[in-house]
Amino acid sequence: MGKINIGFLLSELSVMSYFSSDLLSETKRLLKLFNIKPKKSLSQSFVVSINLIRDIIDLSAISPSDVVLEIGAGLGTLTQFLAERAGKVIAIEVDSRLLKVLRWVLRDYDNVDLIHGDVLKIDFPLVDKVVSNLPFKISSPITFKLIEEPKFNFAVLTYQREFADRLVAEPGTSQYGRLTVAASLFARVELVRYASRFCFYPPPSVDVAVVKIYPKMKSLSDDERFLLELLRYLFSQRNRKLRSPLLHYLVKVRNLSKGRSMRILSNIPYLEDRVRDLSPNQFLEVAKIVRRELM
Ligand code: SAH
Repeated sequence: MGKINIGFLLSELSVMSYFSSDLLSETKRLLKLFNIKPKKSLSQSFVVSINLIRDIIDLSAISPSDVVLEIGAGLGTLTQFLAERAGKVIAIEVDSRLLKVLRWVLRDYDNVDLIHGDVLKIDFPLVDKVVSNLPFKISSPITFKLIEEPKFNFAVLTYQREFADRLVAEPGTSQYGRLTVAASLFARVELVRYASRFCFYPPPSVDVAVVKIYPKMKSLSDDERFLLELLRYLFSQRNRKLRSPLLHYLVKVRNLSKGRSMRILSNIPYLEDRVRDLSPNQFLEVAKIVRRELM
């Protein structure tokens, strides 16, 4: 293929990718033109469903005064929709091959700042909204990074379905765990809808879910921080009654005598309930008492 052909195809592509609903064939064409083979190790699955993009855009309610952060911009498909509506888009992408595509696809937008780097190593800028189809493999650290020190009003994020289920799980279910309790301490989480894995190309191994996160915008209390530490031990024995992992924590982790540990336990409620059944507030109640006893 000669140079002229490529140039022609590219300019045609960038117009089409915005107006046409056939995002799948355009995505494949773009990958081919730039000779890019998607990397599983970077969770590279690119959005090809116009309906999913519309839902994400509607949920984000973006206005021209908004600064929007996008994590893992990929081929810039969602980025273009964001840039049409926002005052400014800050898009982070780690893969230098995709940076080339992004510079090309987004060349007509002067309101997009591209940042080449690893989202887990970058200090997030202060923005109004975070809107992203996330790299699924690092959902957990990204989510903790976002909600522990929130620098945005709300986020609209696509996760793998089972990760989203864990974020909003009810006590007693198999999805309920430390992530659920942490999310409820830091944020309010709404699972908006599930979507097929075929909204992405190449499709990830499982279906996905769109989630809206409203951070609580307050720093955690000492009790809450202590609870996060404690939960690591408690959920490693999620099916046991609270008494057993708690005693283990006091004796083995805090090096207390058995006698002192038993005295502490005598002040604690829910000892006969199974770890997996305690609500976030009940955990907090337990953490408060244990922490006070340890001081
Ligand atoms: N948001 C795009 C791409 C989703 S695929 C879309 O909807 O089409 C996930 C993207 O995240 C890929 O482009 C991948 O290269 C990028 N990515 C993976 N790990 C990353 C990291 N640590 N930091 C920044 N970007 C990352």
